[in-house]
Amino acid sequence: MKDLSFDTKAIREGYRTTQEQEHSEAIFLTSSFVFDSAEQAANRFSKEEPGNIYARFTNPTVDAFEKRLAALEGAEACVATASGMSAIFAAIMALVKSGDHIVASRNMFGTSIVLLNTIVAKFKIEISYVDLSNLSQWQSAIQDNTKLFLLETPSNPLGEVVDITALSKITKSNNILLAVDNAILSPALQNPITLGADIVIHSATKYIDGQGRCLAGAVASNSQIIEQVHSFTRATGPSLSAFNAWIVLKGLETLSIRMKAHCKNALKLANWLDKQDQVKKVHYLGLESHPNHALAKTQQSDFGGIVSFEINGGREQAFKVINGVKILSITANLGDTKSTITHPASTTHGRLTNEERQEANITEGLIRISVGLEDVNDVIDDISKALLV
Ligand SMILES: *Cc1c(COP(=O)(O)O)cnc(C)c1O
Repeated sequence: MKDLSFDTKAIREGYRTTQEQEHSEAIFLTSSFVFDSAEQAANRFSKEEPGNIYARFTNPTVDAFEKRLAALEGAEACVATASGMSAIFAAIMALVKSGDHIVASRNMFGTSIVLLNTIVAKFKIEISYVDLSNLSQWQSAIQDNTKLFLLETPSNPLGEVVDITALSKITKSNNILLAVDNAILSPALQNPITLGADIVIHSATKYIDGQGRCLAGAVASNSQIIEQVHSFTRATGPSLSAFNAWIVLKGLETLSIRMKAHCKNALKLANWLDKQDQVKKVHYLGLESHPNHALAKTQQSDFGGIVSFEINGGREQAFKVINGVKILSITANLGDTKSTITHPASTTHGRLTNEERQEANITEGLIRISVGLEDVNDVIDDISKALLV
């Protein structure tokens, strides 16, 4: 479906029906598949004949999701996983071995940092951290054994951005793989592979599901890399369930239209917050005052649904505001139809040391909103009352 547009692929790619002629994609809730004969079983196992064997290896519902997401990311292939974290871990384990070196952005999802520092480090893999936006730091962190650059752009919650194309020139000339976690924007707003990255990683738990129903993840890349990642998931088992694959498959069908609405609501909220006396600073890439606004415009088609703001009065006042909202949900999740509010310093970034938090600019007065799809005027009204407490 190469020539079709994003919105058509999001609905049609990977679509197929059984002889029952169901219109919506079927959910294949089965752990194994049967063979016509002993010969067929032998041919499936030896890969002479393509086809399903066991759901840890492949499943038709999961396959539909993988094909659709690969198409939307401009990738040759994709492996779905049980969560975003298992996607990140699978990509690292498939591509990096002991003695190798990873350079990672300091400004990543908290658990990604924990994964690198506590699990990946056990395999004698070296890890260095750099500031996401600073190209010369990435360049100078390179060692002879550097295999992988790992990052998220834009970062959550402050919206720092790195120039993916410029960074990919550095990785290509040094024989390093560039992996981008694209969960914050989704393929509807940014395609890192088209910009020069080698690998895209997703927590499909976020915008791809979009309604807070399940965990899911994915790695998309060229066929050769995906075969290595698939060998890892096949042997270790963080495979995506067919039921969850169906949820995120259906999520892709409405992704583009939902992201437009998330962005529109987020911009309106950010502009409103910017005018409030109690608010010291608003971090939203869509505001021209954001230092990465111009760069973001060159590589993403919109600015996403995450708005953060700093209020006067530190943690005490931030907690009062969070406790004062009536509509928004107090939860650390993001990318949901329901707007959510959280205090990063004590939740998503709570496991970092004070120093690490300071380096990442996660202050005590910082509040993060994942702007949902309610009427944004109601969300603004809710926050405006909470700001008065
Ligand atoms: C949530 C998140 C993850 C982890 O995904 P899970 O599905 O919760 O395992 C990884 N990266 C980013 C950017 C996220 O927001």
